[in-house]
Amino acid sequence: MSRVLDRLDALYALGDKIGYSEQEDAAHALVRGWIEEAGLAVEVDDSGNLIGRSGADDDVWTGSHLDSVPGGGKYDGMLGVVAGLEAVDRNRRGAVVAFRDEERGCAGSLARVASGKLPRRYLELHIEQGPVLLEAEQPLAIVTGIAGVARGEIEVHGQAGHAGTTPMAGRSDALVAAAELILQICDAASEIDGAVATVGRVAVEPGAVNVIPERVVVSVDARAPDPERFQELIDAVGLEPDYRVEPVAMSDAVRAALHEAITARDLPAIGLASGAGHDAGILAAAGVECGMLFVRSLNGGVSHHADELTSDADVELAVDVLADALARL
Ligand SMILES: [Zn+2]
Repeated sequence: MSRVLDRLDALYALGDKIGYSEQEDAAHALVRGWIEEAGLAVEVDDSGNLIGRSGADDDVWTGSHLDSVPGGGKYDGMLGVVAGLEAVDRNRRGAVVAFRDEERGCAGSLARVASGKLPRRYLELHIEQGPVLLEAEQPLAIVTGIAGVARGEIEVHGQAGHAGTTPMAGRSDALVAAAELILQICDAASEIDGAVATVGRVAVEPGAVNVIPERVVVSVDARAPDPERFQELIDAVGLEPDYRVEPVAMSDAVRAALHEAITARDLPAIGLASGAGHDAGILAAAGVECGMLFVRSLNGGVSHHADELTSDADVELAVDVLADALARL
C-alpha cells in the first residue's frame, strides 16, 4: 500500500504538470517506468497517452490523467493512474491508461476517441472534489453520470452618462441590470435539483468610476446531471451556449461491478453525479461502457488546490474496491 502513497508523493514532487509540459512528460516517464517494472506492455499513442497492457482482457481499461492545474493537489488524476496500475498488477488483467492534458479540455482522451482505438470498458477512480461524501461520513460513491456543461456570455445594455449629473430616476445602468440577472441565474439553478450555475467573470464598459455602465458582459457556466434538467437549466438561464458538452450516464454493467465490490465490504453503495468533467465522460460519449468510483475528499472537499486531501485509509480502500471491480468486469 505504501507503494501507492509513495508514488503519489513522487508525482506531486514534480510540481505543476500542465498538459504537454516538461513536467507532464516527466510524470509520464515515471509512470512508464512503474508500468515496465510491473511487467506490462507499454503503448504510447500519437497523442502521448500512455497505456500499460497486461495482455489479458486488455480492452478493459482503468486509469485517469497525470496533468494538473497550476497550484493543484496530489490526488486529482494521479490517484486514478497509480491505483489503476495497482489494480491491473494485482489482477494481471486489463490495462492501465494515463490520458494527456485532461485539465484544459481532455485533449488526450478526445484524441484517443478520434483515433477510434477505444477500449470496450473504462473504469476511473477519482477524488470526489466536493464535500458530499465528507458530510455523509462515507468513503466511496458510485458515479451515476457526468453533468453536462454549457458556457457562454450574456450581454446587458444600458445608457452611459455622467455619474454626477444624471438623476437616479432616469438612469439605465447596465451593471445594476446585470446584478439582477446574476441573481436570477442563481435562483434558476437553485430551483433545478442537481443543477449549478456560476457567473465567474463580469466585464463592465466603459469601466470608469464616474461613468454609468453602458455595457456589461457576464460569463455563465451552467451544469446539470441529465439531458432534461440540462436543457431546462439552459432555457431558464437564457443562455445561448458557445460551448456545450452533453451529460452522459455511466454504464449499468460497470456500475454493477462497483456496487458488488462496495457492498462486499459492507459499505453503502451511494450514487453521486459528477459535476466536474472527466476522461470517463469523453469515452462514455463515444460509446465506451464507463464507470467511475469517487473517493472522499477531506478539507471541506477542496480540490485544484494544494490543500486537496484524501486519507491514506480511504486511498487504500479505494484501491481495493477498484481492483475488485476490475476483476468483475
Ligand atoms: Zn481530474
